[in-house]
Parts: sequence; C-alpha cells; structure tokens
Amino acid sequence: MLDIKVTRAETLKAKPDPSSLGFGRYFTDHMFIMDYDEGLGWHDARIVPFAPVPLSPAAMVFHYAQEIFEGLKAYRTPDGGVQLFRPDRNVARLNNTAKRLCVPEIDPDDALCAIKAIVKYDEDWVPSGEGTSLYIRPFIIATDPSLGVHPSETYKFIIILSPVGSYYSGGLDPVKIYVEKEYVRAVRGGTGMTKCGGNYAASLIGQKKAESLGCDQVLWLDGVHHKYVDEVGSMNVFFVIDGEVVTPALDDGNILPGVTRMSCIELLRSWGMKVTERKIEAEELFEAHARGVLDEAFGTGTAAVISPIGELCDEERVLKINGGEIGPVSQRLYDELTAIQWGKVSDTRGWTVKV
Ligand SMILES: *Cc1c(COP(=O)(O)O)cnc(C)c1O
Repeated sequence: MLDIKVTRAETLKAKPDPSSLGFGRYFTDHMFIMDYDEGLGWHDARIVPFAPVPLSPAAMVFHYAQEIFEGLKAYRTPDGGVQLFRPDRNVARLNNTAKRLCVPEIDPDDALCAIKAIVKYDEDWVPSGEGTSLYIRPFIIATDPSLGVHPSETYKFIIILSPVGSYYSGGLDPVKIYVEKEYVRAVRGGTGMTKCGGNYAASLIGQKKAESLGCDQVLWLDGVHHKYVDEVGSMNVFFVIDGEVVTPALDDGNILPGVTRMSCIELLRSWGMKVTERKIEAEELFEAHARGVLDEAFGTGTAAVISPIGELCDEERVLKINGGEIGPVSQRLYDELTAIQWGKVSDTRGWTVKV
C-alpha cells in the first residue's frame, strides 16, 4: 500500500462555471507527485497544492522528449458517488509505454492507489452536469539535468486533474475527416502503440493541414505503404461495412490499444455482432461507399467516447457517410458506454471502480 503524504492548499480555488468547462482548461486544487531515483526506485508519494514544478532547463524531458502519459476520467454517478472506468487498463498501458520509452515502471497497485487517492482528495471537483467528468492525466517526465542521450536516472510521476465539459454540447455531431497521404503518425517498430508526447508533437502538422482543408480530423494511414488505415486524429477508428464491424488490427504496433476500442469490441460481440480486426485499405472505404455498403464510421476514445464520422475526404473526393448522420451502431455504443461510465445502468462486467 502506497504511503502518501498530504499537504493541503492554503486557499482553495473557486470552481469554474459548469456550463463552460471545455477540455483541459481548469485544474483542481491539488496534484499527486512521486519521484524516482536510480537505486532508490519510486519514492516520496505526496499530494501537494497544484503548482508549477521546478526543473532544470537541462532536464532531459525538454530535449529528448522522454515523456509518457495516460488519460482517463472520473464520473459522477446518480447516487452522488464517483467512479473510474477500467483504470487497471490505463495503468497496464502506462507500464507498456514505460517499457518502450525506457522509463521505469510503477507497481500497478501503487499507480492505481495514487489515481484513486488524488481523485478522492479533490472529489468536489468532479462535476455533475450531463456529460461532464473529471479528466485524469497521469504522466512521467525524465528530469536528469543532462544533455547526454541516454535514459534519465531520475523521473517524476505526476497526476493532474481537470474538470471537463461534455464533448458534445450540441448532440453527437459527426466530424469530417481527411485521408492523409503525406504525413504519418507512426511506423512499425516506432512508438505508435504507446502514449508518449512525441507522437502528438509529430501529428500536429497533419491536424493543421486537415483543418486548413476544412476538415476536423486526420485519418492516419500506415507509415510503410501509406495505404492502410491506422487511426483517426487521436482516436481508434471503426467502420461498419455491409453490416460487419471492422477495425484496424493492432499487430503492427503502430496503433494505440484504446480502452474504449477494446470495450466497444467486447460490447459489440456480446450483442452478437461480428467484429473483425484486420488491415483496412483506405481505398476499400471509397469502394464500399461506391457500392453503397459503407454504413457507418466512427472514432473511439476516452475524451469523446464515440465520435461519428460524417464525411470522408481526400484531394479529389468528398463522401458523405450515412447521410452525415450518426448511425445505429455508433449510437447504441455511445448510449451503452456512457450509461456504464456514468453509473446509469448496473455494471455487469466489472468495468467500473468506485473511488
Ligand atoms: C489515447 C489514445 C486513443 C484512445 O484510447 P482510449 O484508451 O480509448 O482513450 C487512441 N489513439 C491515440 C493515438 C491515443 O493517444
């Protein structure tokens, strides 16, 4: 059991207006920090006031991006309680990412204990409005003050919390996506299957390009052939083709194994629907559309849960999917997942964890 020292903030902040939370703009009164030193391991777990973290300008994270993170949410349930959704999956993924980035792993029980403790401590910050939640951002940074290129010998594990609004203020709004054939997000043997800041830095230009072309998100293709679908923006992607649900397989290591993705696959199969994880050529989507069998497309991720895709574009073509409306599979997944996450139905799968 992790021993956590607590220092309470002297003054507490006023809570933001629940109707204008947005995403990641406000932070709670406290944060969790734990240090790592080679030889000592992880130590000095503490809850302290949310404040800047002093670091040497030579800290490795600033130069060689040895940084990893996670993202999950705490939900306010109808009985006034607070719960997490499959947090063990986020902790396991944090450690998988850690291995790839040469960051020391954290005992999964300690990491989960830290997440629960900081959420519990700032529990008043979990909003209760429709679709709102408390976003949890655990991350690890390399802190050695050294410009030598090698894994750091010191790190900080920090958890910050941000109350966030409903992703969909105006209902589930289908997005327009751009099939990106120039820039790639990940390559085989790279870091695509991890949550590291570097992946995001490399993806910004594609997102900017998509926006300049009047689209909302990028449909990323594989880095070798520039042909197979990987992900959409920072979400996993699903298609319903002729009644069958298909999603890119994780085998090549360039796709982030989403907790929402896994939960959707499990739900769909439990409903008796066929789900196939395989390679999907972007061209296959255009062909399916031409045959009139591209029924639905949607992204999945913690932030949006389900993000319906209403239009698919490339340099020449603009396709409307399901008339630009959310389809029945996307809607059913959204309804079921959000009901479980916000505790509106009983959790028969053991996916939720009370705080
Ligand atoms: C976090 C993330 C996802 C979604 O993962 P969830 O666990 O469902 O939130 C998908 N793709 C990328 C690139 C991500 O970083």
